[in-house]
Amino acid sequence: MEVKNEIKFIMPSLSVNEAAARAVVSSFLIQADPTVEELSDIRTAVSEAVTNAIVHGYRNSNGNVELTVKLLENREIYIRIKDRGCGISDVEKAMEPLFTTAPEEERSGLGFSVMESFMDKLKVKSNVGKGTTVVMRKRLSSHED
Ligand code: ATP
Ligand code: MG
Repeated sequence: MEVKNEIKFIMPSLSVNEAAARAVVSSFLIQADPTVEELSDIRTAVSEAVTNAIVHGYRNSNGNVELTVKLLENREIYIRIKDRGCGISDVEKAMEPLFTTAPEEERSGLGFSVMESFMDKLKVKSNVGKGTTVVMRKRLSSHED
């Protein structure tokens, strides 16, 4: 599918960068004129994935989180969040609603459910010791200018 525009944003695993990632996504997507709700959904999904990379992926380490946003044809948005942290041993289990490995930190285990419900597609690839890549897609509604 044709890539109309694309950005890559690389940030260290600091929690302040969750807001930075949201801001980057918003400012890039303005060109596609999303609705307020679409933009809010995408910002939330990105935030969940970046937070996961920082708090789980780099729990006992530091590293970079890589955010790629692509604007494809037919108003489709492609978003990839990649870390080189600890990885996930059982992705299917991790994606179950309410599953969390950090209940003592008052995590609710709903991050992946939020990503799934706010975006059209969600794919997670992970290797223990190598890291995790989350790819999400969403088609923006077409509307008259
Ligand atoms: P919440 O998002 O509701 O605060 P949570 O982060 O535990 O809680 P999810 O975002 O659904 O819930 O993630 C589920 C589990 O998957 C996490 O508890 C963690 O064990 C694992 N996980 C998710 N993302 C990563 C990642 N990038 N690297 C390593 N483990 C991850
Ligand atoms: Mg989470």
